[in-house]
Amino acid sequence: MARRKKIYEGKAKILYEGPEPGTIVQYFKDDATAFNAEKKDVIDGKGVLNNRLSEFFMTGLAQIGVPTHFIRRLNMREQLVRNCEIIPLEVIVRNYAAGSMSKRLGIAEGTQLPRPIVEYCYKDDALGDPLVTEEHIAAFGWASQQDMDDILSLALRVNDFMSGVMLAVGIRLVDFKIEIGRVFEGDFQRLIVADEISPDSCRLWDIETGQKLDKDVFRRDLGSLTDAYSEVARRLGVLPKSNVTKPTLIN
Ligand code: 5GP
Repeated sequence: MARRKKIYEGKAKILYEGPEPGTIVQYFKDDATAFNAEKKDVIDGKGVLNNRLSEFFMTGLAQIGVPTHFIRRLNMREQLVRNCEIIPLEVIVRNYAAGSMSKRLGIAEGTQLPRPIVEYCYKDDALGDPLVTEEHIAAFGWASQQDMDDILSLALRVNDFMSGVMLAVGIRLVDFKIEIGRVFEGDFQRLIVADEISPDSCRLWDIETGQKLDKDVFRRDLGSLTDAYSEVARRLGVLPKSNVTKPTLIN
């Protein structure tokens, strides 16, 4: 079989050229990184869990009419997605103060915000993904005003969907990060949710106990990341019970 062409390798995923024009194969690695890759490890099974969880969230979003890059899952670690031009912004939605917002503004972690707050960071590892304003985004041409209106609406719809799905299984969606891609359909362009949605890019706290079930477990050395992600998958019914504690490592 011919070797696939690798298009890009990031910290947690590899992108390969897809089988049809306009498609990409997204491979989920087991690598975990934090603090701009200063902290690194390989977490057995993380890629399998994130592949399944991202499929679950993206499929649910499509069902409520939120466009995403997801086409179909191919195997335990890979999914077929639409090729899109990624807007160089991390779009962060916060429902409770935590992480960098708590540090920046001196608000205790876990404080409920008066309403969801959307922030934008410029995607640049060398700069540590700095927070930017809509002024920067417009002035540097990263996105138009129409794009920004669409991005805000997508971000808030994803927030409502994810908050509801998580609340139903006893988990608080504290915050999350999404990336947005541009696709061209004839003369028109459309914005879609791209990259991934998984516990790598969300803060998820158990409502009863406050236990962290997301990448902060790795960032802050709070225990087993696989156990935390498996718990999210188990509550959502994403993995069959036999696979929950020991996700298969094939592929
Ligand atoms: P913070 O700005 O507090 O560090 O992160 C806010 C939210 O965005 C958290 O849920 C965090 O996991 C997510 N996030 C921010 N930057 C990144 C990033 O570079 N990669 C990933 N996977 N998630 C991020």
